[in-house]
Amino acid sequence: MSNESKPNSLYAFESLESNVRFYSRSFPVVFEKAAGAILHDENGYEFIDFLSGSGALNYGHNDPYFLDEATQYLRSHGIIHGLDMATPAKREFMECFDAVISRPRGRTYKFQFTGPTGANAVEAALKLARKATGRHSIISFTNGFHGMSLGALAVTGNRYYRDAAGLPPAGVMFMPYDGYWGADKDTSEYLGKVLADASSGVDLPAAIILETVQAEGGINAARKEWLQSIERICRTNGILLIVDDIQAGCGRTGNFFSFEFAGLSPDIVVLSKSLSGCGLPLSLLLLKPELDVWRPGEHSGTFRGNNLALVTGTAALRKYWTNNALSAGVKETGRIIRERLQQIAETNRARSFSVRGRGMMLGFDCGTGELAERIVRKAFDNGLVVERCGAEDQVIKLLPPLTIDEQTLQSGLDTLHKSVHASV
Ligand SMILES: *Cc1c(COP(=O)(O)O)cnc(C)c1O
Repeated sequence: MSNESKPNSLYAFESLESNVRFYSRSFPVVFEKAAGAILHDENGYEFIDFLSGSGALNYGHNDPYFLDEATQYLRSHGIIHGLDMATPAKREFMECFDAVISRPRGRTYKFQFTGPTGANAVEAALKLARKATGRHSIISFTNGFHGMSLGALAVTGNRYYRDAAGLPPAGVMFMPYDGYWGADKDTSEYLGKVLADASSGVDLPAAIILETVQAEGGINAARKEWLQSIERICRTNGILLIVDDIQAGCGRTGNFFSFEFAGLSPDIVVLSKSLSGCGLPLSLLLLKPELDVWRPGEHSGTFRGNNLALVTGTAALRKYWTNNALSAGVKETGRIIRERLQQIAETNRARSFSVRGRGMMLGFDCGTGELAERIVRKAFDNGLVVERCGAEDQVIKLLPPLTIDEQTLQSGLDTLHKSVHASV
C-alpha cells in the first residue's frame, strides 16, 4: 500500500525541536510502535525497517523475551541506577559475556563500562591508549566515523561533522583506508613505510583506531589481509590496536566481533549500539588486562552500565550467542541480499550501481547523492525505511534486523528494486 500523503502531526518537531534533528526529516511521520522488522506510525501505516536504529536493533524491535526480562526486572524493584556500584545485573552480564563471548574465542578481556553513548566509549579508548603508551598521536583512516564528541570527532573523517566542532580537532593523523586508491593498491604499505621512516614527519602514535567495515563512511569493507597487515604494523611498532565495533559488531557481519574473520586480536574493542539487545543505551570497552592502567574513577560518568540495559544485554547473549544459528543465518541472509542487490544493479544498467559490504552490512552505491536520495525517498513513500551513507551520501545502507524473516526481507527488497527502477 502506498504511504504517500499521509496526514501526520510533525508540527511540534518542526516548531519546538532544534534544527539539529535529523532522522525525523528523512522519515517525516510519527513512529509509534514496532515489532521485529516492522515499524508503525501513529496513523497505522506500516514500514519495513532496513535502518534498525543505525545498527542498534540487530535483533529487531521489542523482542518479547527481552521485554519480559526487562519488565520482570522492573517489577522486582531491581536497581536501575546505581552509578557503577556492584549489582547482580552487572555481575550476570560480565560473567555471561565472559563465558559466551570472550572465553570460547580464547580471549581474556576486562570490561570498562563507559557513559551510554558510543562516542563516550571511543573517548575512553583514546584516553586509555594515550595514558598507557605516554604518546599523544592517534592514527585513524579516511572515511572513518567514531562519534561526535571532540576526541571522537578528531578521529572522524567527515568534514561536515568536523566543521561543527568549534575547535580544531587535534592529535590525529589520517591514513588511507583499504581500497582508498583502488582494489589493487595495498595502502597498509604506505602506513608501514611512514612509520618506519624516522624522517616521514609522522609521529609514532599511541594507537590505530579502525572499523573493519566502515559504516557511515560508505560501507567500505576492509580485506582480511589488509587488517592483518595493520595489526602486524601495530605489533612491530608497539602501537595499540583499537577496533571500533560499535556498528559492525554484535553479529552484523556474521560473527559476534567483526574482526574474527581476520583472526585479529585488538588491544581495545569498543562496543555499543546493539549491545543491550533492544535499543537501550549501553557502551563498553573490552581491554586486554595488561592495558588496564586506569586509576579509580579517572574516566567517570553518571550513567555507566545502566542496569536495565545490562539485563536485556544478558538476555541477548543467552538467546543468540550460546549457539551458532544466528551467525549462520546472517551469513546466509547476507548472501541473499547481496545477490538481490547485484541483480538490481544489473537490471538498471543506465546508471552504474555497485554493491559492497560484509554479512548483513551491505551498501548499494548509487554513484551520486542526488540519485541515492531520490531512491530512498521513493522507498519511504512505499513503506521502506532505509538510510544513506558515504562522503556524498551516495550509498544506500542496508541494515535490516539480523532476525528478519524471509518474507519481510523480500518485500523490503522488492520495494527497493521498484524505487531504483522508478528513479533512474
Ligand atoms: C554510531 C557509531 C559511533 C558513535 O556512537 P554514538 O552512540 O552515536 O555516540 C561510533 N563509532 C561507530 C562505528 C558508530 O557506528
